[in-house]
Amino acid sequence: MVCDRCGKALVPLEGIVSWTRDGTDERSFALTHAPCVPAEASQREEVRRLVWPNEFLRFATDRFSYRIADPDEVRAIVWALSPFVVRHDNPAEMDGMRAASFGAIPGVKPGTEQTATPAAPKEGAEVEAGK
Ligand SMILES: [Zn+2]
Repeated sequence: MVCDRCGKALVPLEGIVSWTRDGTDERSFALTHAPCVPAEASQREEVRRLVWPNEFLRFATDRFSYRIADPDEVRAIVWALSPFVVRHDNPAEMDGMRAASFGAIPGVKPGTEQTATPAAPKEGAEVEAGK
């Protein structure tokens, strides 16, 4: 990661995401060192917390409630933080990409069609809930 202000390297422990909120409008998102936070910023979040999966999701989805002046600023921050939050090589994606490379879908035997929907459990059947 690189600071939006000074251009020097930035690690999650020292990063701050800041922006300006005005009613339901938000603008001027920046990913910076703490001393580089723009003076006019009214909101700030510590990157050390934003790389926790639930905090990352909360930050990203909270933006849906506001009108964002420049979505590219938020998009760049979400993508900059994501390698610290999600693994790019998670098993579901790797299996899906591997299968897609030869035109298949994981869990569907090659040469057969995917069944429309899995059979619904019988009425009154005991279903074990996951934890
Ligand atoms: Zn900086």
